[in-house]
Amino acid sequence: MKPANPIFADMGTTIFEVMSRLAAEHGAVNLGQGFPDGNGPDDVRDRAQAFLADRPNQYPSMWGVPELREAVAAHNTRFHGLSVDPTREVLVTSGATEALASCLFGLIAPGDEVVMIEPLYDSYLPIVRQAGGIPKLVRLQPPGWTLPRSELAAAFSAKTKLIILNSPMNPTGKVFDADDLGFIAGLLVKHDAYAVCDEVYEHLVFDGRKHIPLITLPNMRTRCLRIGSAGKTFSLTGWKVGYITGPADLMQPVAKAHQFLTFTTAPNLQRAVAYGLGKDDAYFAGLATDLSAKRDLLAAGLSNLGFKVLPTAGTYFICADFTALSGSEDDAAFCRRLTIDAGVAAIPISIFYEGDAPRSFIRFAFCKDTTMLTEALTRLARAFPQTAKAARV
Ligand code: PMP
Ligand code: GLN
Repeated sequence: MKPANPIFADMGTTIFEVMSRLAAEHGAVNLGQGFPDGNGPDDVRDRAQAFLADRPNQYPSMWGVPELREAVAAHNTRFHGLSVDPTREVLVTSGATEALASCLFGLIAPGDEVVMIEPLYDSYLPIVRQAGGIPKLVRLQPPGWTLPRSELAAAFSAKTKLIILNSPMNPTGKVFDADDLGFIAGLLVKHDAYAVCDEVYEHLVFDGRKHIPLITLPNMRTRCLRIGSAGKTFSLTGWKVGYITGPADLMQPVAKAHQFLTFTTAPNLQRAVAYGLGKDDAYFAGLATDLSAKRDLLAAGLSNLGFKVLPTAGTYFICADFTALSGSEDDAAFCRRLTIDAGVAAIPISIFYEGDAPRSFIRFAFCKDTTMLTEALTRLARAFPQTAKAARV
């Protein structure tokens, strides 16, 4: 038998599926995979139901239904002052995962170098490799997650086609500031490169901070593809509705990749997301306020248990050093034990790195009901009574 494609055949199942399955098997509170346990806003779901009943359900345009393309363009103007042509500069995809694949397949030619920042979301590397790209990895290290500027500059060359930039960043919770973004913009101009900007957590930014899309910086409008996800913005991760905004000439090859990946996405969901993007400011602000209260609850509880919790400026996630609670286990073993013995699932940080990686940090998702967060903390206190006591005195 001839072997299958080694890029996919030789890799494991995504950690998010693995940990969710393990959590279900052991009845664990799932603070692993990043999905909210609510059911999204009622009005958005009601629209989806109504549109399913009374609007066409056949293939919409591969670019997305006009209502959603217009809503994405208007959302860019409303929140970031961008002027966007909905007919040529917005593409609707089946989630950000497909948006990423379409951007990468559309832009990367075999041999192109692609700069990526670790820790990185697990779909990036295999898709870049399948496109024939050569990854150039630059590392952020806990606890500070500071961007190592000279290493980043050294990763760029004449062969660099693009950088993948995830801000707000999974799993670190880092929100790249204007200085870092300006530095990255300078490198893109210097090396005539593009940016695929994974901004799925754009509205999940806390403590009065503001998310700055790279595309809004000077000279970046022609170089950036900005990706959003209704999954995150409306707490409806199963819907898999994503959208890309970018200059018309870059959108063309991206749309051509998209036409053979999924072509289109359920039209009623697209129309409901179009409605959702027009919700008032209180909705978007409320998302972040609600989540930051959950972050604070979980962070305080984990600290009381002896975890060293790192600050989180955005996203669904908290990272914590578990050294005080463990012997010599690595992060993967600790997460398994946590799920099976303590009844709380988390994600090992090392999976977001290639090769040698930090091994004493794990990621918890706090986008859960307060009662679930409290239950998780109660279970952890039961499982680690010694450190729980020591940390409190
Ligand atoms: N990028 C990042 C950084 C993510 O955390 C996720 C997970 N939701 C995605 C992309 C994928 O988003 P979607 O579910 O819309 O495909
Ligand atoms: N983005 C989610 C996370 O980081 C997982 C998405 C998925 O499971 N595909 O937890």
